[in-house]
Amino acid sequence: MYNARGDEMRIVSEKRDVRDYHAQARRGGASIGLVPTMGALHEGHLSLVRRATQECDRVVVSIFVNPTQFGPGEDLEKYPRDLEADAAALEAIGADLIFAPAPAEMYAPDACTTVSVGGLTEGLCGQFRPGHFDGVTTVVCKLFNIVQPDRAYFGEKDYQQLAVIRRMVRDLDIPVEVIGMPTVREADGLALSSRNRYLSPQERAAAPKLQAALQSGAAAGREGAAGAEVERIVAEQLAQEPLFRPQYIRAVDPGSLEPLEDRSGPMVIAAAAYIGNTRLIDNIRVEG
Ligand code: AMP
Repeated sequence: MYNARGDEMRIVSEKRDVRDYHAQARRGGASIGLVPTMGALHEGHLSLVRRATQECDRVVVSIFVNPTQFGPGEDLEKYPRDLEADAAALEAIGADLIFAPAPAEMYAPDACTTVSVGGLTEGLCGQFRPGHFDGVTTVVCKLFNIVQPDRAYFGEKDYQQLAVIRRMVRDLDIPVEVIGMPTVREADGLALSSRNRYLSPQERAAAPKLQAALQSGAAAGREGAAGAEVERIVAEQLAQEPLFRPQYIRAVDPGSLEPLEDRSGPMVIAAAAYIGNTRLIDNIRVEG
């Protein structure tokens, strides 16, 4: 397969192939960008890859549905997998290497080391998905060690994840530059997500109301409303759509992710809500 940059795109499943690739690229003085994903790629993922191709000589995309970041009863088994379509999309925009390992390649049967970021992982999604962020930080740390990229690209759609990874990189002195990218949305405002394909037509029609509710909260935040008031506005608007079952709605400090409560100013309003059996997350940033 030849990618849009005229180079051959390779798909590998073993760590040692990635290491060989890395060694070869480095010998030629090439910089390396990494885009970690779980596959079922959409324009959100591809925006990260495009940015990486602009900034790095070689772009590695990992595709790994990481079992350790799914909790019991979550959608690990049914999570969409389509390596062929993903490879075609990545080749068309100039990725150089796809690393698509099996779980057994990533985790030794007796693996017993976990990378765990405290504090930032306690609220928001962390409160409802125990162990999720340990799974994320451990696998991302492993991917950083396997690929050894100069830069790594993550989406702001998963705002807490981005903050947690930045903190891990800082705290552990991992030599990688973390780059956050804006959320890519459908025309009606719904954040692109691999999980959107689970939605029934009726659910899909209602789903953009999550972002619409966050926008109402953001408008109030910009007018000086405090965190608790912003949360109330979002909750009230979401409650008008009976298909939604909100899990949390929080206005937090953009850096510490601490709830703002009676404070106003710069904030991220983050929410998770079920629509049917599908859990959607989204957020919006309010500048000071
Ligand atoms: P995932 O495959 O869901 O683990 O996502 C892989 C990367 O793509 C993560 O850094 C996500 O934050 C990012 N991503 C997912 N959806 C979007 C989106 N709609 N816009 C931008 N980035 C996204």
